[in-house]
Amino acid sequence: MNRFLDLCVPGVRALEPYEPGKPIGELQRELGLDDVVKLASNENPLGPSPKALEAMRGATGGVSLYPDGNGFELKRRLGEHLGLDPGRVTLGSGSDHIIDLVARAFLCPGRSAVMSRHGFAIYAIVTRASGAELRVADALPADHPSMPYGHDLEAVAGAIAPDTRVVFLANPNNPTGTWFDRHALDSLLEAAGRDVLVVVDEAYHEYVDEPGYPDSRALLDTHDNLVVLRTFSKAYGLAGLRVGYAMASPGVTDLVNRVRLPFNPNSLAQAAATAALDDAGHLEATVSLNREERERLDAGLRALGLRTLPSVCNFVTVDVGRPGREMFEALLERGVIVRPLDAYDLPRHVRISVGLPPENARVLAALGEALAG
Ligand SMILES: *Cc1c(COP(=O)(O)O)cnc(C)c1O
Repeated sequence: MNRFLDLCVPGVRALEPYEPGKPIGELQRELGLDDVVKLASNENPLGPSPKALEAMRGATGGVSLYPDGNGFELKRRLGEHLGLDPGRVTLGSGSDHIIDLVARAFLCPGRSAVMSRHGFAIYAIVTRASGAELRVADALPADHPSMPYGHDLEAVAGAIAPDTRVVFLANPNNPTGTWFDRHALDSLLEAAGRDVLVVVDEAYHEYVDEPGYPDSRALLDTHDNLVVLRTFSKAYGLAGLRVGYAMASPGVTDLVNRVRLPFNPNSLAQAAATAALDDAGHLEATVSLNREERERLDAGLRALGLRTLPSVCNFVTVDVGRPGREMFEALLERGVIVRPLDAYDLPRHVRISVGLPPENARVLAALGEALAG
């Protein structure tokens, strides 16, 4: 028994730690395997832009100095890229960090936050840690024709209570791969009113190519309670550096920055992210590889007789017809790391990141073996 349980703050007592994708080195140590494929954390299989790596190398000489705490260059470049006043950009060590900052600035005991069932796990962790109540809205049903298990924004609106200060939405959502359209977001913003922060987490924004996908950047001009989160971890291939950002009104930006520890993200991360924005070609290559390979992976899974969720992201979530954790273990034995989803209330699904062609072939072969065995 941990005797500090009684001493820590109440919100932390009930928390389960976040289970990240299993690192390659850990599986290699455990099973003595050399050749391990990790398709568990939605990382970019092409890696980052060479320009980002070069900029990072160029910045190493400066690491004895503290980073620019205001991230001037990266914010300036993001401002250009987004068509947004850099004063409305908040940088963080990953967008996870900014989700935490929002909770620190706006949630406490006596308040609540709303998220959707099957929503991203970090929203629940930061809400509970703050001592606020977590209100979980029902998701769309498993047999929904286009968005199985997706966010139901009417249910989300219905879960908003007088003490609600924050609504967390992921668009598209991880781990379902589903998304919601402009009309649904407009209605939710209308229902939320002006005094509830609506956080739209667009970690997979760059991958989405759907005509009805909301232009959240434009909505910022009319909604000062909207916070849009993006990251360099997914399509930009910089997950290990930890860089994400928020776009919000000056008022929200001011408050979130009051709780931000001053030197995040670090100087190498700032340099690499700034340069990554200059390499549109790398981003295009990433998105187009993903489109082709996601289709191939999805078709391969269906050919195995499995039902996949329709994904607009860089992963495919699939019902493996048995406990997902069992399948996760069976694939580990074959040197393939995927993500079990029991913590997301999807106990029979696993999430598979889209990799390079040989990696996708490998996971399909391993799955085929595990299903037969
Ligand atoms: C991966 C992911 C993030 C954040 O990643 P960071 O590396 O912290 O920027 C945020 N939200 C969702 C939905 C994600 O899948």
